[in-house]
Amino acid sequence: MELNRRNFIKLLVGGAVGIQVTPLPWKLTDDVAIWTDNWPWVPVPPRGAFTSVKSVCTLCPGGCGISVRKVDNRAVKIEGRTDYPVNPGGVCPIGMGGLELLYDKDMRFTRPMKRVGPRGAGVFQDISWEEAIGTLCSRISSLRSEGRPEALAAVDGHYLRGSTMSVLIERLMKAIGSPNYLRVPNSEDTYRIAGALMTGREGPIACDLENSDFVLSFGCGFLEGWQGAGRVINAWSILREKALNNKAKVVQIESRASNTASKADKWVAVKPGTEAALALGIGHVLIKEGLYNKEFVNNQCFGFEDWTSPDGKEHIGFKTLVLKKYGPDQAGKLTSLEPARIVSLAIDFAKAKAPVALFGKSKGLLNGSLYEFMSVMALNALSGRLNQPGGILICDPLPLAVLPEFQQDAVASTGSRKPRIDGAGSSSYPCTRSLINNFADTVAKSDNSPVDTLMVFSSNPVFTLPDGGRFKRALEKTPFIVSFSPFRDETAFMADLILPDHTYLEKVDDVVWPAALQFPLYGLTRPVVEPLHHTRHSGDVILQIAKKLGGSVGSAFPWKAYEDVLKIRAMGLFKSGPGLVQYEGKTTFWEGLGENGALKADYKDFDGMWKALKSNGLWYRPRYAAGAEQSLFKSPSGKFEFYSTLLETVVSESAKTGSRDEILDAMGVHARGDEVFMPHYEKAAVPEGSGNYPLRLVPYAQINLSSSWVPTPPFLNKTLFDNELLKDESFAEMNPKTAAEYHLEEGQRVWIESLSGKVKVRVTLFDGAMPGYVFLPRGFGHYAYDEFLRGKGSNPNTVIHPSKDPLSGLPVWWNTPVRITKA
Ligand code: SF4
Repeated sequence: MELNRRNFIKLLVGGAVGIQVTPLPWKLTDDVAIWTDNWPWVPVPPRGAFTSVKSVCTLCPGGCGISVRKVDNRAVKIEGRTDYPVNPGGVCPIGMGGLELLYDKDMRFTRPMKRVGPRGAGVFQDISWEEAIGTLCSRISSLRSEGRPEALAAVDGHYLRGSTMSVLIERLMKAIGSPNYLRVPNSEDTYRIAGALMTGREGPIACDLENSDFVLSFGCGFLEGWQGAGRVINAWSILREKALNNKAKVVQIESRASNTASKADKWVAVKPGTEAALALGIGHVLIKEGLYNKEFVNNQCFGFEDWTSPDGKEHIGFKTLVLKKYGPDQAGKLTSLEPARIVSLAIDFAKAKAPVALFGKSKGLLNGSLYEFMSVMALNALSGRLNQPGGILICDPLPLAVLPEFQQDAVASTGSRKPRIDGAGSSSYPCTRSLINNFADTVAKSDNSPVDTLMVFSSNPVFTLPDGGRFKRALEKTPFIVSFSPFRDETAFMADLILPDHTYLEKVDDVVWPAALQFPLYGLTRPVVEPLHHTRHSGDVILQIAKKLGGSVGSAFPWKAYEDVLKIRAMGLFKSGPGLVQYEGKTTFWEGLGENGALKADYKDFDGMWKALKSNGLWYRPRYAAGAEQSLFKSPSGKFEFYSTLLETVVSESAKTGSRDEILDAMGVHARGDEVFMPHYEKAAVPEGSGNYPLRLVPYAQINLSSSWVPTPPFLNKTLFDNELLKDESFAEMNPKTAAEYHLEEGQRVWIESLSGKVKVRVTLFDGAMPGYVFLPRGFGHYAYDEFLRGKGSNPNTVIHPSKDPLSGLPVWWNTPVRITKA
C-alpha cells in the first residue's frame, strides 16, 4: 500500500480499532483537521482559555463518558474520560466525530420549519416555535374532538432502557389517548422477550465480558461497535491480553470474516439464521456427555427433564428435545459445519471456568431472532453461568422513580383501549410490545391511512429499517408527519413540520444503564455549549405541547422543564440505597465487582447527589445487579425455564380466538407440541416468488460507519478503503467462487435485486465471505443530510425483504433472497 496521507489515515483508524479505543485516534483527527481546511464549516478555534466539560455520549447505547475540550466557548475536541467507569479513556470514531454533528449547519435543522415543497424534497420554510407547536396541537385537538385520538402515532428511537424521553413520549400518547406508541427495534427487544419467557425478568441485558475466560459469540461485533465500543473494545483488549497467556478465548460465529471474526481465536462460519441449531448442537454434546452444571440445572431450572403437568399430561423436556433433534450430525447439516467442530466447541465451552454465550448480531442495533436468543440463553443456563462472574447477568431495572399516575379523560381512555395498528400484543404477536414493521405494512397497504398524524423522535426509520422501503411508502400515505429530529435526515425530509431538538452536546438528558454494562449506572449529559441555533429540547417541547392542549393532558405534565422530570426520576435512585457519583479511575471497575461488602454512598443527601450527578454525569453501584439465586428468577415456576410456562399460557390464551395450529401459523411458528415452548431452530421463511433469487443478502456494520439514526461524521468517509467506498459507489463483498459462477470480477458494477428492490454497487472479492451470500455494508446510501453523506453508496435496507421472525414478529434482516446481474 502506498503510504500517502489518505492511506495513513486509514491505517491509523484500523490500528486504533484493532488494539483498543484509546486517545490515539486524536492524531488522526489532527491530520484530518489539516486536510479539511477548505471545508466551509470546519470550526476555527478562537484564541482563548482552555476549559473542558465532562459529559456523556448518547450517539449509541454505549453511554461513554466524554470530556469536551473548549477554547473560549468553542468546543474543539472530544476525548474519552478516564474518570468514568464505562470506557476507561476511550471513545469510538463516531463519538470522536461528534463535533461535526454539532457544527455542521448543513446537517442540522436550525429552527422550526414547515414543508413548502413536495414531500421528500426537503424544502422547508422557517416558522416560529409558537406556530409550530400551535399547528401540531390544533391537529391533535381536532383528532380528540373527532373522537379518534388513536389516529396519532409516535415513533421513538431512544434505546430500550426506560430513558426519560421515552417515558414522556409514551405518557403523552397515553394522555392524548393513542395506543400507537412505536419503537425502532434493536437486539434488546429480542433479549427482553427471551428474558421474560425464560427467567420472568425483563431487565436490561448485561454481561461481565471482562471476567470471562471463554466467549462464545453468536455474531456479536465486538470490534464493530457491539453495545458501545468504548467499553467493549476495552473488554476486548483485556480478553486479548489474557489470551496471550492462554487464559481466555473468543470464538466468533459469523458468516463473514468481520474484524471481530478475523481477530478472534476461532472463527466459525455458519449459515446466517442457523445459529440456534448450532447453540442446540453444542447443548446436545454438553448434555450427552454430562458436561453441564447438574447442580444448577437440577435445582434452579424447570423443564429440563420430561415432566407431567397437574392435568396429568406428559411433556417432553429440553433434554429429550435436544438429544433427539440436535445431534452434531443434525446440527451440522443445518448449519453447514463439520459435526466434529460442534463437538470441539462444546468441549471448549464446558472446559472453561467462566464461559459466556452472547447474542445480538453485529452492532446489536437490529433485533435478533427470538428462538435463537432463547437457545443461546439455554447454553448459559446449562453451564450454570447466570449471574456469575464472567457470565450473563439477569438484572433488575434501574430503580428510577415512577412518575405519578394521572387521570385520563373519557376521550383518552376510549382511544387508548383501541387495538394497536401494528398488532403488537394481539393473539398473533402476544410477546411483542411494538412492531414498527407491521405498522409500516398496514399503513403502506391502506387506502385510507389509520394514522392521521405521526410524530418521529430520535430516529430515522426511512433509512434504518430493514424493510425494502416500506416505511417510506407508509409515510407517503400518512396525512401529517412531524419530525423532532435535530438532523436533516430522510424521515425528516418527508415531514410537514419540523420541531428540531438540540444535539446531544447542547442539552441535558439521561442514559439509563449503558448497553450490556455489568453493573447499574445512570448517566446524565450536560450542555457542553449553549444551543447554537433556535432549537429546543424535545422534552421541553412535550411539556409545552401538553400545556397547550390543556385539560387532563396538561394536568399529566405539571412540570416546568424537562430537567425537573429528570430530577424526580433520579430521586428513585437516591431512595433505593447507597450509590456512588464519583469514579476516580484508580481501580479498574471490572475487578472486584463481585465483592459484597456494604457500599457507602459518596454523597450526603439528595441535593448533594443531584449536584454531583449533574456535574460528573454518573450514579452507579459497582456490584452485580441481582441478588441471590433464590430470588433470581421471577418465572411462574420461580426457576430458569427451559420450557417456558409463560409462553404456554400466552399461546393458550391466544388460542381461545382460534385453533392452536392457526394461532401458531399466524405467529410464523412451524414447530408443534412441547417444542413450541422451548428453544429450538426455526427455518427462516423464504418469501413466495423468490425462486429466481438464488443468493442471500446479509447486511453488516462497521465501527467507522454509523448505521443508526445518527449520521456518520463526514470526516469518517476518509477512513474508508477504496473497496468500501470509491467516489460515490459502495461495494458488495462476495466470495471469489460465487463471483466466478456469475462471471464477476473485482470492481465490476452489478445490480443486487430482491423482491423488494434493487441497488447498484460494485463487487469486491473477499475470501472471508461465505459462498452463496452477498454482504453489503449498512450506513451508506443517504439522500439527505449534507454533501459529504448524500449520494455516497447504496443502502442495503432498500433491498431487504420484510419477512418476520417466528413468534416475535420482528423483522428478519439477515436472509433476503437476491439475484445479481451485471450493470
Ligand atoms: S461507543 Fe457509543 S457512546 Fe461511546 S463514544 Fe462511541 S458512539 Fe459514543
